[in-house]
Amino acid sequence: MKNPSVGTLADLRFWLVRTFVWRFAKPRFITLMGGPGAGKGTVATGLAPELGLSHASTGALMRKEIEEGTDFGMQVKDAMAKGNLVPDHLVMQILERTLRAPQIKGGVILDGFPRTLEQAVMLDRLLSSWGVALEKAIWLELTEADLIERLSMRRTCSNKKCGRTYHLKFDPPKVADICDDCGSPLIQRDDDKPSSIRTRLATYRTESAPLRTYYQAARKVNKRGIKCSVMKVVVPNNLMNKKQVLAKVVAALND
Ligand code: ADP
Ligand code: ZN
Repeated sequence: MKNPSVGTLADLRFWLVRTFVWRFAKPRFITLMGGPGAGKGTVATGLAPELGLSHASTGALMRKEIEEGTDFGMQVKDAMAKGNLVPDHLVMQILERTLRAPQIKGGVILDGFPRTLEQAVMLDRLLSSWGVALEKAIWLELTEADLIERLSMRRTCSNKKCGRTYHLKFDPPKVADICDDCGSPLIQRDDDKPSSIRTRLATYRTESAPLRTYYQAARKVNKRGIKCSVMKVVVPNNLMNKKQVLAKVVAALND
């Protein structure tokens, strides 16, 4: 991965977008938050085309770096396999590069970022330095029992270009262990194995609480001119299908 260095053509292009495009069509920045396995990726995948926004998952972006064997990938590999958080400055690096990419003109749905209070503060600073702000933080709130059930039964298509996820109970493939879309074998992500699941849940419990307080306190003026919290809590459960969860998220965004 290249650092977004100063003075390149990409910088000039980004400056032009900010100065001339964003002034008239403000980009939307929305973040989806919630525990590991809460369905952030699934919701973002459904929501992005509906709202005409890009989808940026820091987890997926970093997994791609690992697969490509980049220096960046090597730096984050261990932490990710164990279910630990990747250091803030590294996540920030990949996030900033993604937000500067030309395809995010209309805005972006962040999935899995921010994960710590420091990241939330850095995101606010970055957006404000570009003259924009976070529109909403949607918090997908599930019970820990539901999260464990989802993660342990999640299977992922081994074909990197496809990457579709399944749930052995709620959304199984038509043929056991084979992807419906591309016929590749399904695998279990390293960090969906029991010991990593425990680490991820423990990290989530400690890191997410301050983040929640932060967004609950953050205020913005909504479409009706009323001051409201940046955060919206959505409560899905394992009996709801994807469409039902998506409808709840859309309602929270329009609120
Ligand atoms: P999940 O939300 O199911 O845990 P992700 O794909 O979002 O899956 O994240 C996988 C892993 O990537 C995390 O366990 C962590 O190691 C790393 N990661 C992703 N986003 C961040 C972030 N914002 N800060 C630190 N580490 C992150
Ligand atoms: Zn597939």
